Amino acid sequence: MINMQDKTLTCRDCGTEFTFTASEQEFFAQKGFTNEPGRCPSCRAARKANRGEGGGGGGFNARREMYPVTCAQCGKATEVPFQPRSDRPVYCSDCYAAHRPAGTGERRFGGGGERRYSGSGSGGGRSRSW
Ligand SMILES: [Zn+2]
Ligand SMILES: [Zn+2]
Repeated sequence: MINMQDKTLTCRDCGTEFTFTASEQEFFAQKGFTNEPGRCPSCRAARKANRGEGGGGGGFNARREMYPVTCAQCGKATEVPFQPRSDRPVYCSDCYAAHRPAGTGERRFGGGGERRYSGSGSGGGRSRSW
């Protein structure tokens, strides 16, 4: 049986040295973990707390990046989940809803399944003429 010894590891988050004790190593081995802990106990606790807050269903959800913008309509500061383009006005959610064409706009969002497929076959890339 291998005699475990306390190890001193360096936290990859905060750089603090911490002790990976023999008993912890044993515990890890029992769990089948082959990796040494990369973080000190406090950083581990912090991460755990963070994860709990995120309502984690499973795995990590990459946080969606939000871009701060100013509403072109009312001047309110807001954030949008896409990179605003300089050639397009950006609206806050209120104004965006107001701006959204009721039904006749060029852009339709989630409308009825009223899409038309033009007859040219998009499958083969070859156009057949009958
Ligand atoms: Zn740390
Ligand atoms: Zn607005």
